[in-house]
Amino acid sequence: MENKKRIYADHAATTPVSREVIEAMAPCFSELWGNPSSLHTDGQRAKELVDAARAKVAAAIGCEPAEVYFTSCGSESDNWAIKGAAHLLASKRKKIVTSKIEHHAVLHTCAALEKEGFEVVYVGVDAGGFIDMDELRAAVDENTALVAIMMANNEIGTIEPIREIAEIAHERGALMFTDAVQAVGNIPVDVKALGVDMLALSGHKLHAPKGIGALYIRKGLRIPNLIDGGGQEKGRRGGTENVPYIVGLGVAIEDAVAKLPEMARVRALRERLIDGLLTLPYSRLNGDRECRLPGNVNISFSFVEGESLLLLLDMEGISASTGSACSSNSLEASHVLLSIGVDIEDAHGSLRFSLSHSNTEDEVDSIVKAVRGVVERLRAMSPIYPAK
Ligand SMILES: *Cc1c(COP(=O)(O)O)cnc(C)c1O
Repeated sequence: MENKKRIYADHAATTPVSREVIEAMAPCFSELWGNPSSLHTDGQRAKELVDAARAKVAAAIGCEPAEVYFTSCGSESDNWAIKGAAHLLASKRKKIVTSKIEHHAVLHTCAALEKEGFEVVYVGVDAGGFIDMDELRAAVDENTALVAIMMANNEIGTIEPIREIAEIAHERGALMFTDAVQAVGNIPVDVKALGVDMLALSGHKLHAPKGIGALYIRKGLRIPNLIDGGGQEKGRRGGTENVPYIVGLGVAIEDAVAKLPEMARVRALRERLIDGLLTLPYSRLNGDRECRLPGNVNISFSFVEGESLLLLLDMEGISASTGSACSSNSLEASHVLLSIGVDIEDAHGSLRFSLSHSNTEDEVDSIVKAVRGVVERLRAMSPIYPAK
């Protein structure tokens, strides 16, 4: 019916699996199907693939292979790091310091720990989405087990000063964890330079399949095991390895890091899209303009409903998001936008576009044209739009 190519501008929600990744994974379903724990040749071949992928992930984030643990997703990594740190230090320290703009995989994990009796402090952010450092300094104390602050925000793209935050955590003897799911593959990430004790990443945000992630755990840090079972992941996360997906993650993360210099082009697309969309009346950019992920654009359009915008854009062949994919089914306004001071009406009229290498200038121009059209249509129907 329709031949027009769709425009995908929702890479922060998920990314297509690249051809290179599919090709690297394919043999793991056919000739290389062994169990890495088996001592025979079939098993050892699979083990070599897992080892090679672990080395690639380690090289991408600047750690040793032994510090990389494969998990099933970013959410699992977030859960393991936060609950692990809390339970490791529970007898001495009962507080967790995080932020108001974390992903739900962090916020809901912290909420679960509150039910167990831990105290959680949710530090606020400024209008650009940056952590309030005074509030953070005041919150982190001798009772703090963990500071958990994301490296880059999934909705507004703001990049946090993780190195500085890690220093504050360590000065008071707390551990430092960062959810870097949006950062890895989009900006340089080096766990040693950042000084973090744990870092989460996810495959499907960087052109590997859904259902694979990793957690960096600094050598010597003994958070409790996630899954007791066999000796996989040094006995800390049992369960036979997902060899194909692990291989896919290795190739995807190596590719993503190799392509980081090309992010300058994505950043230029982002600027073009922001400039184009801000020509619409009653529009504003959410998040800091400079210190943001190369592909992230988040704009509020007053007097329109984000859901309506999204559906009309979808009919025009454009995939965007109203915020985080996880909350797009609920009518709750984005907790991130409310935290940076966007009022509730404008929060409901916000769109996120997340660009990647595959997008083009022509696509950006088409997006601007389509958004202008649908915003004007919706505003023409709005009883509260002033410029009628
Ligand atoms: C997508 C995302 C997650 C969750 O990762 P999954 O692999 O989908 O579980 C966690 N944190 C951030 C910032 C994300 O963008």
